[in-house]
Amino acid sequence: MPTDPNNYPFQLAAILSDRLRAAKQELVTQWLARITARVAISTKRVFPTHELLNHIPLLIEGIAGYLKRPERDIDAKAPVVAKAMELGALRHTQGFDAYELLKEYEMLGAIIFAFLTDTAETIPGDFARRDFLVCWERLGQAMELIRQATVSHFLRLSSTQINERENRLRKFNRTVAHELKNNVTAITAASTALAEQWIAPEERKEFDQIIARNAESLRHALENLESLSRTQADSRHCRNVMLPEAASEAVRELEDAAKAKRVNVRVADDLPPIEVDAAVVELCLMNYVSNGIKYSDEAKPERWVSIAATVEGPDTERDREVVIRVTDNGIGIPADRREQLFHEFYRAHDETVTEAAGTGLGLSIVRETVESIGGRAWAEFPADTGTVFAFSVPSRRREDIQAIKGSTTSSPEKADRP
Ligand code: ADP
Repeated sequence: MPTDPNNYPFQLAAILSDRLRAAKQELVTQWLARITARVAISTKRVFPTHELLNHIPLLIEGIAGYLKRPERDIDAKAPVVAKAMELGALRHTQGFDAYELLKEYEMLGAIIFAFLTDTAETIPGDFARRDFLVCWERLGQAMELIRQATVSHFLRLSSTQINERENRLRKFNRTVAHELKNNVTAITAASTALAEQWIAPEERKEFDQIIARNAESLRHALENLESLSRTQADSRHCRNVMLPEAASEAVRELEDAAKAKRVNVRVADDLPPIEVDAAVVELCLMNYVSNGIKYSDEAKPERWVSIAATVEGPDTERDREVVIRVTDNGIGIPADRREQLFHEFYRAHDETVTEAAGTGLGLSIVRETVESIGGRAWAEFPADTGTVFAFSVPSRRREDIQAIKGSTTSSPEKADRP
């Protein structure tokens, strides 16, 4: 909004602006303390890099400059707008919501106005009341403009993210429907053929196998979908259990499958005693362990899958994570087929070779699920044998840190992340 230079109280504006500029570090310290108290996160996470800490004084600089020089407007090209937008992007990646962001600006406004109210009392000279009000109006505009730049950028990023999620979900539904239809079509065709009198006994066996294989695929896909929806529902009423308990539960569920393939499933006895989201961790472990069993190597006399976990990350509650690794001595994954492992419907082995029925959905569900709670999923490939599938979940609770301090953590062999 252009200000009429003929009516602008330049002298007063210059004094207020200089005082504001001189006090910027002190104001930032106050702001930081109030935000940290309000959003209950570590100072390091409010401004994770030094560069960003420099941002806030720059915003105050921008406001001071706007006050002093009425001929300059804050528009999209102003450097202060770029800084304000970067703040919006940071808060978006940190998972703030729009309300927290608005609160953050409300606090900044309150701190700046409180500072200037005190300053106004100490300004020498005899300025007209009108002049103070003009300066106040100009300050209000500056605050409003940088808030708009931050919030609108934040909302733009949020809406892009929602659109991407919707598209992914649509694509996911399409591919699931397609895959299920394929299984049903194969079952229908095989059972129609079986009804024919002329079918030879060996062909009958083959059709029986087609039916069994496709029914198994259907069962597996439906189980995955069911656990996925359970996880989503559970995330609202999240049930926490201790990690060793979640691991035992996953192993118990897969006992029969492991026995059938003569695979020994082991759980490290030094799993960190921390609380985890039961639905998420059991779902991921079951997928990884059942793959370890399914893709075990018949040629090896001893077949095993092992579960281990470590706590990794810096010393702040938010950034610490539990990394859970499922290692097997199975058939491994050829080097040229590793890149898309976590993509929906991707299968790295030829089914006729492994004879393992599957849909290629399990790993993508694991990744989607852990990412929904701020974790990650990946695979590591030891040089000698088998595969390591890993996932991490954030560990935030203060009690966890106490528990970890009192326990030793295992550290399995490391391999490069893809
Ligand atoms: P599915 O097992 O239903 O095919 P997943 O998404 O669970 O689907 O796995 C994708 C592919 O990754 C599998 O088809 C298989 O080729 C490969 N894979 C997964 N886990 C292992 C493992 N432990 N060892 C070897 N290959 C694996």
